[in-house]
Amino acid sequence: MRVYLHHHQRLVSRHYLKSSLRALFWAKMESRKSLPFSRMVCAYTDNIRCRSCTSFAAWSAMAATKPAQTHSSSSIATDTSASSTRQTPATLPDDCPPDVEALGRASWTLLHSVTAAYPEKPSLSEQATAMNFVSSFGKLYPCNWCGEDFRRYMERNKVRVGSRDEFGRWMCEAHNEVNQKLGKNVFDCNKWGERWRTGWKDGRCG
Ligand code: FAD
Repeated sequence: MRVYLHHHQRLVSRHYLKSSLRALFWAKMESRKSLPFSRMVCAYTDNIRCRSCTSFAAWSAMAATKPAQTHSSSSIATDTSASSTRQTPATLPDDCPPDVEALGRASWTLLHSVTAAYPEKPSLSEQATAMNFVSSFGKLYPCNWCGEDFRRYMERNKVRVGSRDEFGRWMCEAHNEVNQKLGKNVFDCNKWGERWRTGWKDGRCG
């Protein structure tokens, strides 16, 4: 298992160190180079996981591979971060803090919905607000390495906010960048409006 400090985490930790040594970030990643990003596992120094940086499934799988703390049922794994006796469900319950995937789905819903509600002909002030929103989003996104990659993407691909369609397509392309990174299918950006604004032409969205 590789253990090292991610550059961004080092920066973030400066803030947390002021209040508590517990908050010094370190990444506990299993073969980051060979596993898909969704399988990365990230934790604080005291082994409390950074939930919004970690796939719940990956965390559970890692806990389940520790023989001394594995239960006989294949669907139950021990949460080693808190207590050796506490059982972790196979899937993340709805009323728990989001993992990287739940946070991502909710965030993309917000981001695409913002572009869907964006004016066709935005004023300069509306364009500035949109730019600020996306920029702040990238800085505050709770999965720090996701936010870092998103900010790098923005540096390479300037946010386009000149019209609703421009903004919607830019967001779709940004989402596709993450899809590709995770080995998922690329979405057809000609259809971003149907997916997020009007509903599909076949009428199934009502
Ligand atoms: P999602 O990718 O969340 O997509 C939700 C829905 O959006 C899909 O069902 C589909 O209908 C629609 N959709 C898909 N692609 C597009 C598109 N291009 N345009 C418009 N609509 C689309 N996870 C990681 O593991 N590592 C990361 O580095 C990472 N970075 C992220 C960065 C950002 C800014 C965000 C918001 C999320 C990031 N995530 C990351 C989370 C990841 O993108 C997914 O949200 C998560 O893996 C759940 O994926 P999903 O397959 O359920 O659908």
